[in-house]
Amino acid sequence: MSTAVTSNARNTMAKLYRASEPDVLKPLLERAALDSDSRERVMGHALGLLADLRAAQSKGWVNQFLQEYRLNSSEGVALLSLAEAFLRVPDPETADLLIADKLGDADWRAHAGKSNSKLVNSATWGLVVGRVLVGEGATGPLRRLISRAGEPFVRQAVGAAMKMMGEIFVMGRTIDEAMKRMRRPENKGFTASFDMLGEAARTHADAQRYFQAYVGAVDAVGRDPAAGHSISVKLSALHPRYEVARWSECVPALTEMLEALAVQAASKGIALTVDAEESERLEMSLDIIGTVAGLPSLKGWDGFGMAVQAYGKRARPVIAWANGLDRIMNVRLVKGAYWDSEIKRTQVEGLADYPLFTRKAATDVSYLAVAKDMLAAENIRPAFASHNALTVATIMEWAGNSREFEFQRLHGMGDGLYERLVQENGYHCRVYAPVGGHRDLLAYLVRRLLENGANSSFVHQLADERLTEGEILADPVAKIAAVGGKRHPSIPLPVDLFGAGGHRNSAGLDLSDVDTLAATVKVVNAPLPQGAFPREGGGPDSAQGADRAAARESEGLDPRLRGGTVSDAITRAHAAFPGWSRSPVEERAACLDRLADLLETYRDELMAICVQEAFKTIPDAIGEVREAVDFCRYYAQQARAKLQPIELPGPTGERNMLHIEGRGVWATIAPWNFPLAIFLGQTVAALVTGNAVVAKPAPQTPRIATRAVELAHEAGVPTDVLILVTGGPEVGAALTADARIQGVAFTGSTATSRKIARALLEDDSRPIVPLIAETGGINAMIVDSTALPEQVVADVIASSFRSAGQRCSALRLLLVQEDIADGVIEMLSGAMDTLRIGRAGDPATDVGPVIDQAAFDRLMAYRARVAAKTVKTLDVPADGLFVPPTLVRIGAVEDLNEEWFGPILHVATWEAGKLSETIARVNAKGYGLTMGLHSRIARAAEVIEAEAAVGNLYINRSMIGAVVGSQPFGGEGLSGTGPKAGGPRYLYRFCAERAVSVDTTSAGGNATLLSLDEGGI
Ligand SMILES: Cc1cc2nc3c(=O)[nH]c(=O)nc-3n(C[C@H](O)[C@H](O)[C@H](O)COP(=O)(O)OP(=O)(O)OC[C@H]3O[C@@H](n4cnc5c(N)ncnc54)[C@H](O)[C@@H]3O)c2cc1C
Repeated sequence: MSTAVTSNARNTMAKLYRASEPDVLKPLLERAALDSDSRERVMGHALGLLADLRAAQSKGWVNQFLQEYRLNSSEGVALLSLAEAFLRVPDPETADLLIADKLGDADWRAHAGKSNSKLVNSATWGLVVGRVLVGEGATGPLRRLISRAGEPFVRQAVGAAMKMMGEIFVMGRTIDEAMKRMRRPENKGFTASFDMLGEAARTHADAQRYFQAYVGAVDAVGRDPAAGHSISVKLSALHPRYEVARWSECVPALTEMLEALAVQAASKGIALTVDAEESERLEMSLDIIGTVAGLPSLKGWDGFGMAVQAYGKRARPVIAWANGLDRIMNVRLVKGAYWDSEIKRTQVEGLADYPLFTRKAATDVSYLAVAKDMLAAENIRPAFASHNALTVATIMEWAGNSREFEFQRLHGMGDGLYERLVQENGYHCRVYAPVGGHRDLLAYLVRRLLENGANSSFVHQLADERLTEGEILADPVAKIAAVGGKRHPSIPLPVDLFGAGGHRNSAGLDLSDVDTLAATVKVVNAPLPQGAFPREGGGPDSAQGADRAAARESEGLDPRLRGGTVSDAITRAHAAFPGWSRSPVEERAACLDRLADLLETYRDELMAICVQEAFKTIPDAIGEVREAVDFCRYYAQQARAKLQPIELPGPTGERNMLHIEGRGVWATIAPWNFPLAIFLGQTVAALVTGNAVVAKPAPQTPRIATRAVELAHEAGVPTDVLILVTGGPEVGAALTADARIQGVAFTGSTATSRKIARALLEDDSRPIVPLIAETGGINAMIVDSTALPEQVVADVIASSFRSAGQRCSALRLLLVQEDIADGVIEMLSGAMDTLRIGRAGDPATDVGPVIDQAAFDRLMAYRARVAAKTVKTLDVPADGLFVPPTLVRIGAVEDLNEEWFGPILHVATWEAGKLSETIARVNAKGYGLTMGLHSRIARAAEVIEAEAAVGNLYINRSMIGAVVGSQPFGGEGLSGTGPKAGGPRYLYRFCAERAVSVDTTSAGGNATLLSLDEGGI
């Protein structure tokens, strides 16, 4: 894949990517250490810079803001939320709700007139007025006065406050405005690097728009090359699918666009720098940058550059690589802007270690070490971007008399830090200058404020009057050396996410790593080992495969069962039950732990079966194995903690014990859409609680179940305690009809669960046994006009089309507030165009085939029926069970009454102010599985939390991917019986409870009572 990066450089980077923190830091600490003389000089400089910074604080708006509105105060948080959302809300009704929500609880008056900054004060007054109107009762004099002017007055006041905040932070709404502002006296001596603001592109149209904005910016800046300004480019703005899995598509496309911009910049004699983004994109960006850097047409142009993030463990080899390019490179060293999201992603994906440091001081150490490398590098023109006085002072020390480098800062931040250095000492400083309209800039502003409002950030510390200069300027090398470079204690490795008392987290696979992805593609597409049920003919995704596999079921999968019947299986399980039930919980739990380990050992094979038998995409296949592992470990841990006998209180002379035990033989009946995770989840829960199990997978996915049962036996579950039976509805019916079955755990359709419920009651002589049914739903997501459309669209795409819409949690009905519906639907349609539909084993595939011919026919017939209402659909490969992702517009919530289990999403609108009514209409359908909300109004979240009758509610995120132990999963109403899988109360339902009461006086007297002491007197 990577052509512009040599394999040597790649290997060095790969070794460091997720290496242990102390190992990575050891050489960096040596490189960054200062001797005592140098440290003394650095402190001298740093104290001077600190004084300059403090003196300039009255101008530094961010500092003023941070001083007045701390991010951990309710006002600070309210202001940030308001700033992020307010200007994009088109309808007055929602704007008022947002204002009421954000201004309502905070004490703005306490801030009025307090700040040294006029701007902060004027913004505050706008908010005080707003607060009066929304929060101080209907009768206050001011309220009466202003209410005559009407609500628009408040909106205007708040809107003006927001715009004011934004304007301070961006250089201009257009590039011309920004360039003009750079000519103002306060920017004298500074150059700028202009950045065109916006979210990452979600559609090709967005990407084109951003590209044109960059072209326009290069053109404008190029009109005056002597001014020395440059352009910064974000690659994620130029392609909607800038992802490793789409390497072969996005890297060439981005290379072409970057080349065009670079050639344009070179022809105008201005510089262009590529920003650094998420760590998973590093290799792609190096490939793109490397190719462009090597273009003969750009030889002789010294304006090409890139940003490198010091918080990343690979920073140093990246610098070495840049230095090895056959040209001068402008390298901007930053610390990095995605720290929190990188930490979260690593945890969510269960990866081996973090790609970046976990202590702020470690980032500082890395920055200093890398800066030293850069100053010594022959082909690098260094730029050091920082607002940290100590960082800057250390670089000044190392650079000595040299001025052959730049400092850089963000517009609106670090005022005072560089003025003297530029005006009196001959240093160069460039300002990173965002350009854009109000709507785009606020998300940027919030990001910057959050980043710099963090306790550990230098800008925050500067604003904190309680900190001494010594604390602010403490040596990062000493700090890190003192802890041996160890990871931050509050940031555990993903494997330890659930803490000492919790279960060990399943291991993920880093599919953003090129080598891991390539190896995974190979294993999941390799022919499956001999043994059971290859899908024959036409390759793994053939239309007939599933049916043929199902047809072979009658042969019986389990050799021990072959020729036997369901009844035989139950007989054997019944005989095995007493022994298993009497075995200690610890032994049963240990079997589950061993099974989890085996699942991880055979992960490649299991993923391959998931891909080839169930048509899971590669990310879904790893998710499937991880969930199965998590179920095993979680239920093992829960069983140890919860299945112990409890001694209960009672009158003297009695001993009351409550025991919890298995009930007998359970039937577990699983679906094909989670053929390993749900199949095993239900089964191991029954096993660990002391039951024997006859387990039936879906007829479409017998092979993965067979392997799971083999592994369970290998893990120590006796063969007669867990017996696999395969087949279709007739096998399921035979199982549930057998009076010896003491409980059924079923996941599948509502119709089948009804049949099972009836079957369990049919025989009057049979005890009434528990049924745990997990069924589908008509899952809705409600979006109001405060939501961020880019985020909504990403979450909708994942929720409705991932796994080809074949998850019971999947989004079926998108309800968008009418005021923003057209824009959201347009963006959603554009994002659908970026979906790749294809073979499950292809890493670029987003949407694979549906499970079998029957499902395909059903969905396609429905699509044909709603063709007139289809607002967007896609072309799909002709050969295979590919159902085109489709968006269908319906008139009202009531128009959708059936669950369509595939990539078909319905959209309708709702009116501002009718959130409760909309929720009630969704509730009225009677299903209750998942529901989603996208809104920035906290009150809206409270309303939906109180009123939505669903098992799983997701706010401001996607609606799929419940994590065992974090988001216990399961519905209510027509969607299931509960309890929730992966939750702390699941195991109890599989158990019989037995209370034992012993009269301890029956031996003739109450010895305990009679031997009481005198109670301390
Ligand atoms: C001109 C310019 C261009 C920029 N371009 C980019 C870019 O292309 N890509 C990009 O990602 N960022 C970019 N940034 C943003 C930059 O990363 C931040 O502004 C910068 O990190 C702030 O550093 P500082 O030295 O001013 O602040 P400091 O307060 O000294 O450092 C803050 C840094 O420490 C990190 N940090 C905080 N807590 C921890 C922790 N527990 N463990 C490890 N690290 C931690 C933060 O993530 C942040 O990177 C740019 C900044 C400037 C000034």
